[in-house]
Amino acid sequence: MFVVAMHSLSSSVRAHNLSKLDSEHFDVLVIGGGVTGAGVALDAAARGYRVALVEKIDFASGTSSKSTKLVHGGIRYLPNFDFSLVHEALVERGILLQNAPFLVSPVPFVLPMYKGDRHPVGMPFTTPGGIGLGLLLRMGLWMYDGLAGRYNIKRHRRLKREGVLKLAPALVSEGLKDGYMYYDAQTNDARLTMALIRTAAQQGAVITNYTEVTSFISEQGKIQGARVHDRIGNQDLLLYARHIVNAKGVFSVLPETEDKRILFIVPWESRAIFGTTDTGSGDLDHPTASREDIVYLLKYLNRYLSVTLTEDNIISSYAGYRPLVSPRKAGGSTARVSRTHAVLESPSGLVTIVGGKMTTYRRMAQDTLDVLKRRDGSPLLHPTQSLPLQGSAGWPVVQSELEKKGAMLGLSPQTLSHLGRNYGAEAVALLELIVDDPSLAQLLIDDLPYIRAEVIFACRQEMAMTPYDVLARRTSITLEDRRRGLGVVDEVAALMAKEHQWSPDQQQSLVDTFRSAIEAQIAAEKIGVGVA
Ligand SMILES: Cc1cc2nc3c(=O)[nH]c(=O)nc-3n(C[C@H](O)[C@H](O)[C@H](O)COP(=O)(O)OP(=O)(O)OC[C@H]3O[C@@H](n4cnc5c(N)ncnc54)[C@H](O)[C@@H]3O)c2cc1C
Repeated sequence: MFVVAMHSLSSSVRAHNLSKLDSEHFDVLVIGGGVTGAGVALDAAARGYRVALVEKIDFASGTSSKSTKLVHGGIRYLPNFDFSLVHEALVERGILLQNAPFLVSPVPFVLPMYKGDRHPVGMPFTTPGGIGLGLLLRMGLWMYDGLAGRYNIKRHRRLKREGVLKLAPALVSEGLKDGYMYYDAQTNDARLTMALIRTAAQQGAVITNYTEVTSFISEQGKIQGARVHDRIGNQDLLLYARHIVNAKGVFSVLPETEDKRILFIVPWESRAIFGTTDTGSGDLDHPTASREDIVYLLKYLNRYLSVTLTEDNIISSYAGYRPLVSPRKAGGSTARVSRTHAVLESPSGLVTIVGGKMTTYRRMAQDTLDVLKRRDGSPLLHPTQSLPLQGSAGWPVVQSELEKKGAMLGLSPQTLSHLGRNYGAEAVALLELIVDDPSLAQLLIDDLPYIRAEVIFACRQEMAMTPYDVLARRTSITLEDRRRGLGVVDEVAALMAKEHQWSPDQQQSLVDTFRSAIEAQIAAEKIGVGVA
């Protein structure tokens, strides 16, 4: 017998929430449903505020589904003596491992050292002739462990040449001296954002996707609310709130890129991710990977791997823009809270949270809420430090029950492990769907662990409104499937149509939209770099 506390985000809840947005007064309006906005909404709701969050497309449809999926301190900032930045991120890594144990997991990294290597893989510094680099690297790794303090995952260790090759057999062995192993963590960025959205909703936040803030309502120069357009119902609403937080990510500042000399090969879900480049193609709403990006990455991949990979080995590609803090001074009074991110207050009262990274979303939200609480003259409590995300409660116990019951329902160990990693304790709700309708246990794609029940769950609990939401964000099928979901979109749309009562025309039009978006992405990969 399983009992799971659920707070559903179905399409009827969305409709209900829209009417609340139009009729109620809120304490806090959060604009943007990426990881930052979701984190702010959760922190605000957990501190007792009446919260609304509106997202113009889908949750995590911006940069928050396009990261390298690492929950990390950022080892490359050490040579810049950015100790506070690294410490902050390492602490947040530890808090996230504790608050979402099913969704965030430790991952070991191997740093190979080659003879005459002046830029060891992953470390953007050099010494004259490369002398003493091993020692410097070791000092850096000691520091990395030390800065994590009690949150450290496991101490780094030195590897002999044979040890490096045993752990990473595909590496080029010629010139390999030795190496190091250190630990960070990884997650599924879109699912993390969804877990935050669900937890915020559970705490009382009123949340809608496909709802865009089009302008502000101001009185005597002070912002009182926002005009909001419901892109699905094609209606306009007026939303009033005492505090308005702009968490629009890259839409807040000019996009910039960081030094991308670190090249990551990260095992993730059923595949491996390799990146990143520092070019940008496509507009802010549609960043794309270009052919140059792919050629560049393959060149470096083949330099370090003993096997030769070609474009045929690439299943999918994605790109995103980083919302970095602009080095220029922004207008209005600026409260600089850390070197990674900034909370900006404009004279109109608008609060903007910029910079940071996925790993530090919680700290960014906490600093934002501290600004609002100071305005209100209330005490600064930090409840999210130990607030489990949706799916975490009772997780280790539920995990073994899940395996037993899942096996009885005929689910493979791969699917059960996938359900646990993505839904945590809530995976039992997917099993309940299968009990009611055994056809929902079927795989969507033969060589991936996704099942039909996930489509239903996404519609009833996670506000999935289009096939793209299901295929690109509730699941990662567009990344993991060689056909990027084109072979399964009809089936997904048919399942969704019953949930949302779509007409045949609506269903077909949504399938066509998905197909066009994927085909445009594939076409972009075949041509040169576009506008940055
Ligand atoms: C290539 C790459 C790799 C990265 N890798 C990592 C990593 O491994 N680890 C890590 O910690 N960080 C990483 N980052 C950084 C991290 O991904 C970002 O810092 C984070 O996702 C930003 O989240 P956000 O919510 O601020 O922005 P977004 O995710 O872009 O969210 C902003 C949201 O606001 C919405 N919006 C915009 N305008 C409006 C409006 N008018 N009304 C309503 N909604 C609106 C958008 O639709 C969007 O969904 C990476 C970034 C990039 C680009």
